[in-house]
Amino acid sequence: MDNILKLHVDKDLETLDPDDWEGMKDLGHRMVDDMLDYLRTVRSRPVFQPVPNDRRDFFRSGPPTKPQGAEAAYEDFREAVRDYPIGNIHPRFWGWVMGTGTPFGMLAEMLAAGMNTNAGFGNQAAVHVETQVINWLKDIIGFPAEASGILVTGCTVANLIGLTVARNLKSGIDVRTEGLQSLGRSMTMYGSVETHSSVQRALEMLGLGSDAFRAVPVHDDFTIRIDELEKMIAVDVAEGALPICVIANAGTVNSGAFDDMQQMADVCDKHDLWLHVDGAFGALSALSPRLAPNIDGIGRADSVAFDLHKWLHAPYDVGGVLIRDASSHHDSFRMSGDYLSHFDSDLATGPINFMEHGVQMSRSFRALKVWMTIKEHGTEKLGRLVEQNVDQAQYLAALVDREPELELMAPVPLNIVCFRYTSPGLDEQALDDLNLTILQRLHDSGVAVPTHTRISGHFVLRAAIANHRTRFEDLGLLANEVIYWGRKLRRESPRQHTS
Ligand SMILES: *Cc1c(COP(=O)(O)O)cnc(C)c1O
Repeated sequence: MDNILKLHVDKDLETLDPDDWEGMKDLGHRMVDDMLDYLRTVRSRPVFQPVPNDRRDFFRSGPPTKPQGAEAAYEDFREAVRDYPIGNIHPRFWGWVMGTGTPFGMLAEMLAAGMNTNAGFGNQAAVHVETQVINWLKDIIGFPAEASGILVTGCTVANLIGLTVARNLKSGIDVRTEGLQSLGRSMTMYGSVETHSSVQRALEMLGLGSDAFRAVPVHDDFTIRIDELEKMIAVDVAEGALPICVIANAGTVNSGAFDDMQQMADVCDKHDLWLHVDGAFGALSALSPRLAPNIDGIGRADSVAFDLHKWLHAPYDVGGVLIRDASSHHDSFRMSGDYLSHFDSDLATGPINFMEHGVQMSRSFRALKVWMTIKEHGTEKLGRLVEQNVDQAQYLAALVDREPELELMAPVPLNIVCFRYTSPGLDEQALDDLNLTILQRLHDSGVAVPTHTRISGHFVLRAAIANHRTRFEDLGLLANEVIYWGRKLRRESPRQHTS
C-alpha cells in the first residue's frame, strides 16, 4: 500500500493536452485560415483528381509509435489528404446525390468536437438542441408536435429506424422478445421499383429478407402505380402473407419522381399498413412554398426519413427520421440495465433519451451543425437554394432539349437530369458504350462530375444538383463538354461505336 501511495506523484503523469497551448492556438488559427481559403478557392481546382501513386504510399506505413507532433500531422494532412476529396464541395459536382456543405457548417463541427459531448441522453444542451431541431423539422415537414424523431448518420439509418418501428408494431407479435420465428408467416413491404437500395438493406437487416420487398411497377414518370400496389397487396393477403408497410418515394434517386402520397396513405388506411416515406432529398421540398405541393400528403405518413447532409448542406454526416407515434418509436429501442436507470432529476434526465430512440448509444452532437446552419441562413433562404437547384435542372433539361446531339431520358420533376449523347447510326449498345466513355473522360478531365444510372435499360448520364455553388454557366459547360467528348470519340473510333 505504502508503495502505491508513493507512486502517485502528479508531476509524473501524462496527458494528451498540449504542452504549449499558445502553439496549439496558432496552429488552430492556421488550420481554420487554410480551410476557409480552401473552400473559397474550390472553383479553381479540378472537381476530382485521383490520389496519385506516390501519395498512396503515404497510407501504407504503420502507426507511428513515437510522437510526430501536431504540426507534422497537419503537414501530412495538407500533403496527402486535403486535395483528394470525392469532389462534392465543388460547384460542378452533380454525382449521386450529395450536398455541398458550408464554411460555417465546418466551424460548427469544430465546436461540437470541442465540446465532445456524448449526446445520447441527459440534461445537457446537446439534447435540448437536437430536440429543438427535431421540432423544427416536424414543423417544416408538417408532422404533429407529439411526434418523435431522432437525428442519425443519414437516410439509410433513418429508413432502417422507420422500418424497424413499422415491423415491430405491425407484426402483431412481440418481435423484440420472440424474434420473427414465432410469426409463422412472412411480412411484406411495398414500394416502387425505383425505391432506393437502402430500403432493401433495411429489410435484410430486419430479418425480413429482400424477397419480402414487393417492387411495384411505375408509370412513365417513374411514380408508383397505385392499381398495381393494390393488386400486389391483395395477392399477398390471399396467399397468407402479412402486408405491413408501404414505402413512398419523395424524390426517387434515379430521376427525382414523387409518388402520390395521398393515394398511398388511402391505401394504407384501408389495409391498416404503415406508411413510410423515403424523402432523402425530396422531403426538403417542404422548405419551399413553390415546391411543397410535391410532397402533398407527407403529413399523413407514419414515418419520414430524410437527409440533412444532402439538400440542407449540413456537413456529413447527418439525416433524420420522424415517427408519428412517439410511444411505438420508444418501444422499439427502449433499453434496460441497472447502469442505465436514472432518477427523476439528475444529470441523466433530459427531455428525451435519444439513446433509446435509435441504434447508437454513444452518439455525437450531430444536431449542432444543423441548428447553426438553420440559424445562419434561415429556412427561407435554404428553401430558395433548393428552388435554385430545381431551376438549374430545368435549365439543363432545356439545353439538352435544344441540342440535337443530346437526348433527355427522363422527365425532370425536381433536381435530377438524366440524358445522353446521341448520334445517328448507333445501336443501343454502342450508345451505352459511348456514353460510358464520355462519363469517364469527364471525370478524368476533372471538369465536371455527373454520374450515371440506367433509365428503361439505357445507360444515361445523370446530374443530380444539390449544390449551392453551381452557376447556370457550369451547366452550360457540362452540356458543351458532353458534346465535345461525344464528337471527339465518334471521330476517333467511328467504327467501334457503330452497329
Ligand atoms: C441518398 C439516399 C438514401 C441514403 O441516404 P444516405 O444518407 O446515403 O444514407 C436513401 N434514399 C434516397 C432516395 C437517397 O437519395
